[in-house]
Amino acid sequence: MWRALLGACRIHGNVEMGEQAAQQVLELDCENAVAMCCYQTYMLLLATRIVIRMFNSRERKEVKEQCGHTWIEVNNEVHTFVVNDKKHPQIVEIQAELKLVSRLMHDAGYVPDTKLVLHDVDEEEKVFHLCHHSKKWAIAFGLISTPPGIPLCIIKNLQVCNDCHTSTKFISKIVGRAMIVRDANHFHHFEDGVCSCKDYW
Ligand code: ZN
Ligand code: ZN
Repeated sequence: MWRALLGACRIHGNVEMGEQAAQQVLELDCENAVAMCCYQTYMLLLATRIVIRMFNSRERKEVKEQCGHTWIEVNNEVHTFVVNDKKHPQIVEIQAELKLVSRLMHDAGYVPDTKLVLHDVDEEEKVFHLCHHSKKWAIAFGLISTPPGIPLCIIKNLQVCNDCHTSTKFISKIVGRAMIVRDANHFHHFEDGVCSCKDYW
C-alpha cells in the first residue's frame, strides 16, 4: 500500500506525502531482504530522496526560473550543472565522456533535433549548442563518477527539451543504465531505450 502511495506521489510530484510513504516503505522493507532488493522500490526511493533534498535546499530557492539548472546526486553529494558552465573541476573528463557517448549515439542511429536551437548558426554549430544542455553534462558526470550499471538520478528545474529526452533514451540503452529524471513537470524513467512517459510530457 505504501509503495502504491509512493508511486502516486512520484507521478503527481507530492513531495511531502512522498517522503512519508518512502519512510514507511523503507522501514517495512528492512525486514524483508527480498523486498529490499526490489529494484522498483529502490528507484522510487532514490528519486523521491533527491527530489526532497533539492526542494528543501536553499540553492533550489535561489535558482532563477529561466536559467537551466540540473542536479545529480553522486556518492551522497549533490552536484549542480548550469548550461555552458565550464567551471566544474572535472570539465575535461566530462567533455571527453560526452564526446564518446555522442559518437556511440550517432552509431546507434541518433539524429540530433536541432529545431529548438534558435541561434542563427549552421547545423554543426546547432549540434554543439545541444551538447551543452546542462542535463547532458550531468549525465556524463554521473557516468564517469559511478560504477557501471548504477542508475542515475537527475533533477532539472525546467521541462526537459525534446533532444535531451531523445538522447537520454539512447544513452540509457547504450550504457545499460536506468536514468530517472525529474523535470519541472514530470518524472521520466529511462531504461533500455524507452521512457516511462511514452514520449508524452
Ligand atoms: Zn536539452
Ligand atoms: Zn519521458
